[in-house]
This record gives sequence, structure tokens and C-alpha cells, in this order.
Amino acid sequence: LEPAYQFMLRVRAPGGVATADQWLVMDDLAHKYGNGTLKLTTRQAFQIHGILKWNMKKTIRSINDALMDTLAACGDVNRNVMCNPNPYQSEIHQEVYEWSSKLSAYLSPRTNAYHEIWLDGEKVEDTKEEQEPMYGKVYLPRKFKIGIAVPPSNDVDVYSQDLGYIAILGDDGKLEGFNVTVGGGMGMTHGDTATYPQLGRLIGFITPEQIVEVSETIITIQRDYGNRSVRKNARFKYTIDARGLDWLKNELHSRLGWELAPAKDFHFDHNGDRYGWVKGVNDKWHLTLFIQNGRVKDEEGYPLMTGLREIAKVHKGDFRLSANQNLVIANIPEDQKDLIDGLAQKYNLTAGEHLSALRRNSMACVALPTCGLAMAEAERYLPELLTKIEAVIDENGLTEDEIVIRMSGCPNGCSRPALGEIAFIGKAPGKYNMYLGAGFNGDRLNKMYRENIGEKEILSELGTLLKHYAKEREDGERFGDFTIRAGYVKATTDGTNFHE
Ligand code: SF4
Repeated sequence: LEPAYQFMLRVRAPGGVATADQWLVMDDLAHKYGNGTLKLTTRQAFQIHGILKWNMKKTIRSINDALMDTLAACGDVNRNVMCNPNPYQSEIHQEVYEWSSKLSAYLSPRTNAYHEIWLDGEKVEDTKEEQEPMYGKVYLPRKFKIGIAVPPSNDVDVYSQDLGYIAILGDDGKLEGFNVTVGGGMGMTHGDTATYPQLGRLIGFITPEQIVEVSETIITIQRDYGNRSVRKNARFKYTIDARGLDWLKNELHSRLGWELAPAKDFHFDHNGDRYGWVKGVNDKWHLTLFIQNGRVKDEEGYPLMTGLREIAKVHKGDFRLSANQNLVIANIPEDQKDLIDGLAQKYNLTAGEHLSALRRNSMACVALPTCGLAMAEAERYLPELLTKIEAVIDENGLTEDEIVIRMSGCPNGCSRPALGEIAFIGKAPGKYNMYLGAGFNGDRLNKMYRENIGEKEILSELGTLLKHYAKEREDGERFGDFTIRAGYVKATTDGTNFHE
């Protein structure tokens, strides 16, 4: 008898877009084979937890039948291409989304093994060698992440991506092209200063038609020069930091045979989501819901999973997973708005709009009990910690002040904690390193403020900090900026001085 091994399946959804039918398939599989919940991830993908080994094949086949897949949702390849769901500029979103889908398809591994193993594809003859035109025989040294932001929203945390694109709109409001950033990444190892989070750096501007060629060329540079001996230093950020940004630009230009244009002006003003109803183009409506830590499940008084299922049964538009683990019920025709709104009210789905601004800007990774790498709680603990911090927030009149707060169960940083104005990274059960000082727009890394502290110290530190902030902040000053000006932490100006 084999033990009942459990697995997690990650289903990629390029740009975070899923049809209503695909949503119903995810919901059904979560109940049939998973633990009855869905997790919306920080990379706009679905996770189903608790799938028993003998149900894996059936689950993957059903996912494939719904025209989704788990291919490249993990491994040393390009992962789910992220894209701003942007209900505010839905015309541009459509165009940017199409580029993200094209990129995702083009950069997918061509291997037949996935189909052979999971979908009962015909075995490729041993004599016929498989061709991976871009990844080659040995794939990449490490995973590779791409995200596309549409200013003023930096919801995809474009600077955290190995390769980031920032959409630039022309005076006519049409997509002119993309600024390109390279070498971002969140992961590090506790106690190893040779590892650190890093921000992507701006290297130029390209037209939309150049995005596939530039992406492929950059990925092949990382394929050829990435560190294959020390896995902890294998991400693209280390390749660039070891050789220099000028080296990267020269290598890129020489492989392309042409040069990127100078980067264009742009401005980000936040990296969180905006909740509630908004009208886009063609009289289509969009409803953004706060989903705490991306966990879709039914709770007493908040039957989220049931409510979304009922909506999916009648919804004529699509669903968009945001990069902050939230959900947009998108492209609702005018004549369906009342119906969807009625269902959202019936199942209390908009409850999140009334929560504190701190909670609405919170994010936690899965961590315990399902992530094997977790050193401490995150998703199950942050909501409870927030309730305690909210008492301090309320006391100091900060309930409506947006502060980005993030928690990860380990320094891999899946919730992008190095970009939290307040962040916690797990060290051991109940113990966290505490970080302060990131930029509200996701454009500055934070820095360690306290090491290995528990809840009592966290609340005591935040009590002092938040009181000080409420009393002495300057007009419009963000919490992350304040903690630097007030001298709690030094600004991290580059990932290489993150530990200083
Ligand atoms: Fe990612 Fe670490 Fe959280 Fe696991 S515990 S989800 S690896 S950050």
C-alpha cells in the first residue's frame, strides 16, 4: 500500500485571465480532488492544494480539457507571464494582455514529456531527439519571471520581475510600446549576504512588436551566462550584478543587432488594487473584490466560494486574478450588472471594501501547512496579527491610511515581502524578521529592522512606529518613506546594500 501522498497543482493563467467556465472547472476540481478551496497566487495563477497522488492525472487532464495547463507553472523556465488586469483602462488592458498571452505561449517549453506523462500522449521515439529551440538541452539555470505593468498601477510589482515591461501610452491613449526593466527578484537565504532581493533596472524602450524578440534574447543570455554551479546565485539578478548592467546591454544589443531606444517617462502611484465597481469601455463593468491572501473558501457569513460559483454560472465576461491575490469579475455587460451586483450582495462578497486600508493592502504566501519550505506561518497568521495591529491603527487615526504590509513563511519571498512598507519573513515557528522602508509604489526595497521577533515585540514595535507616524508625518508622506526619514532604517538604494 502506498501512503496517501498529497500534491499542490499550480495552474497558470497568463495575465491572470480565466473564463467563467474555467472558473467553474477550478471550483469543481478543488472540491472533487483538492481540499475544497482555491488559492489565487501572487503570480496570477490558481493553486489547488491537497490532491492525492492517484488523482493527479485525472486533475491535470480536466485542467487541460478546460484549455488551461500546469506546464511551466514551476521549473527552470519562464513562468506565468503577469499582466495588469486594469479595469480602469480596459482598452489598453486588452492589448497588453494579448502581448502577455503571446509571450507566454512563445516562451513555453516545447517538450512532449508533459503530454506523454500526464495526458497519455504518444511516446516520442527514443531515436527522435526532442528539440527545445530556446531552452536547449539544459533549460535555464533557474526560474525566470516576466510581468507587464500599466502605469499608474504597479500592481504586478514590475521591479520584482527578472524581466519587466512598463506599458507606455502615446498622446492618443494608444499603446506606444514598453520600457524594459531587467534583473529583479525577491528570493534570498537567511544569513547568506551573497543572496539578496533586487529591483529591476530600466534599460530602454521597445515597440510592442519587439517584445517577443527582446524577451527571447534576454532569456537566452541568462541561459548562457547564468550561474549553474551555485543554485542560490543562479537567478538573472546575480548574472547582471556579477557582470554589470553595461555588459548586459552590450550583449543584448549585439545579439539583437539593434539597440533599444531610450526609456520614456512614466509614473507609478501605487502597487495595490482598487476595489469596487468601475466602468470600462463598451459599457462593460468590472467589480474588484478583496480576497484575503487569495484564499477562496466558504466561511460563516462570508460564503465566498459559493458566491463566486453562482456568479460564474451566469457571468458572460471573464475573471481576472490580480497580482495582489484579489479578483476582478470583469467585462460585465450593462444588462448583467444588477444581476451580478445582487449575487455579490447576497453572498457578502464585497465585505472586503469595508476593511481597514492596511488589511486591504496586505498579502501573505501559503506557508504552513502546505508549503514544504515554510519556516513559519503566513497566510493563516497574518489575518489574526492584522486584527491586533488594527487596534493600534484605529487608536492613531490611521484606519483609512494605505500601508503595504506583507508576510512570507520563508525568504523565498513569494508574497514579495521585500517590497512591503512593513514586512515579515519567517525564521522559525512564531518568529519573524521584520522589515521597514519599502516604497509605496513598489520602487524601493525595504531593510531589516528587527531580527527573529515574536508577536509581542512586533506589536510593541508597531505601536511605537505607528504612533510616531500619525503624529509627525509630513503632508502626504507614506509610511515607508517616514520610517527612513525618522531614522528607523536606512534606505536600500540597491539590492546589493540590502543587508547593510
Ligand atoms: Fe514561498 Fe516560502 Fe511562502 Fe513557501 S513559505 S510560499 S516558498 S515564501
